[in-house]
Amino acid sequence: MTTHRCEVLVIGSGPGGATVAALLAEAGRDVTLVEEGPDLRIDSAPSYSLAEMDQKYRNGGLNTTFGRTQVTYLEGRCVGGASEINAALYHRPHPETLAGWARDHGIEQMSMEALLPYFQDIEQQLHVHRRAEGLSPASRRIVQGAQALSWRHTEIERFWRYQGEGPRGRRQSMSETMVPRARAAGARVHADTRIQRLLLRGRRVEGAVGRKAGPDGGRVRYQADRVVLAAGAVQSPLLLRRSGLRRNVGDNLRLHPMIRIAARFDQPVNDPSFGVPVQQVEEFKPEITLGGSHSSQPHIALWLGRQVPDRRALMERWDHIGVFYVAVQGQGRGTIRALPLLDQPLVRYDLGARDLELLGTGLQHLGRLLFAAGARQLMSPVEGRPPIERPADLGQLSDLPPGGAIAVSTIHLFSSLPMGQDPSKSATDSYGKAHGFDNLWVQDASLLPSSPGVNPQGLIMAIVRRNVAKMLSDG
Ligand SMILES: Cc1cc2nc3c(=O)[nH]c(=O)nc-3n(C[C@H](O)[C@H](O)[C@H](O)COP(=O)(O)OP(=O)(O)OC[C@H]3O[C@@H](n4cnc5c(N)ncnc54)[C@H](O)[C@@H]3O)c2cc1C
Repeated sequence: MTTHRCEVLVIGSGPGGATVAALLAEAGRDVTLVEEGPDLRIDSAPSYSLAEMDQKYRNGGLNTTFGRTQVTYLEGRCVGGASEINAALYHRPHPETLAGWARDHGIEQMSMEALLPYFQDIEQQLHVHRRAEGLSPASRRIVQGAQALSWRHTEIERFWRYQGEGPRGRRQSMSETMVPRARAAGARVHADTRIQRLLLRGRRVEGAVGRKAGPDGGRVRYQADRVVLAAGAVQSPLLLRRSGLRRNVGDNLRLHPMIRIAARFDQPVNDPSFGVPVQQVEEFKPEITLGGSHSSQPHIALWLGRQVPDRRALMERWDHIGVFYVAVQGQGRGTIRALPLLDQPLVRYDLGARDLELLGTGLQHLGRLLFAAGARQLMSPVEGRPPIERPADLGQLSDLPPGGAIAVSTIHLFSSLPMGQDPSKSATDSYGKAHGFDNLWVQDASLLPSSPGVNPQGLIMAIVRRNVAKMLSDG
């Protein structure tokens, strides 16, 4: 077994871990950043292609929760984590979300005022911008529908650099920003290495053991003075459970459930070269968000559903079809459990009655929006139901059956190791330090106490920046 020694071991290189590694290395700490997935360029495969899913997604994108209604979920697995595969949409959260977390979970320094300098820094460092190349046809449809209904809507800014990058610019994922910063400050990055267990002794963590993939692979051991766990909302609690920690570990998974529908228009609405539409309807936030999804030809075929009778004819004019979504804040809860002898976790999520109700309401809103934007036909998201061709029939979307007849998915997971001052209800203190430990921190999406109702990467990074400032000031 190869042994490595470092002052700070950071496990996972997504927005949480890459941020910690860069800031601690820049503060002069001796950092090793360990990542299970490969170290690839942002443009190693076309966005949303099968090649990209194969290279950068965990299990090629095929993960699902157990429960009455299954929820498929996506996770990144590469240097940079899900920032390498996401749409780079950036939000500040609603100030009331932060105030509610401070109030309900006793979290210190949790307000827009306290986080503002960190948001501003991220916005500057990661080049948060509106699209320079104008709106896609699908985004323009969202604007058209929202204007017709007098609903508030907005263009979501993105982590995107235009300066010196040509007219289309370049996504500012972690492999383009925080990981190079960490390296430049002396951090070592060990890709293709999965940590399997933390080495715990009393109130201290002494390091971790794992396995390196590939021909020169084998067992590896890390000895560290401090360990920062940032493996994401599913893998972080899984690793803690495998290491023998149970209290408030993986008991409170939250997510943003999402349902997509395909809509057919008389004119082309679809130009995949634009990527994910950047317009969202603000009218029903934070409980309900409406927006557009990436809609390449294979995606359209998938979202048309099996029940559409004239599927072949529709696919001949696939560029007249766009895929749109409703995402809700998510009131249900889930759990993450380690299974003996298996690498994969058992993830359960109970899509509650309230979630189904909100998804149903959201689908009706989405249907109204799309008809107001000129849609001729909406493919029902409920298996076996015919397409909807008149606004008067949208009512059928409000009663969604629990069970397998609807395809619910998510790309936003959190809260599986929630922060809070009360150790009986939370896994870490207000700054991510694990309760009961002197030198173990969690710094990723797991920390959020509940669903934020907005695209979460910017919020995760702001909280992590705040927490690193506390780590450094505490010495
Ligand atoms: C398809 C998709 C689109 C999205 N779109 C947006 C968007 O537009 N805007 C937005 O704000 N958010 C978006 N998100 C969500 C956002 O990307 C995540 O919330 C964010 O990346 C979470 O950061 P994280 O650091 O918690 O974990 P992750 O990004 O999940 O990174 C964790 C990393 O840890 C590694 N790891 C896991 N286990 C181990 C182990 N045992 N040993 C070593 N390494 C390990 C993983 O391989 C992974 O690289 C999207 C997510 C997806 C999947």
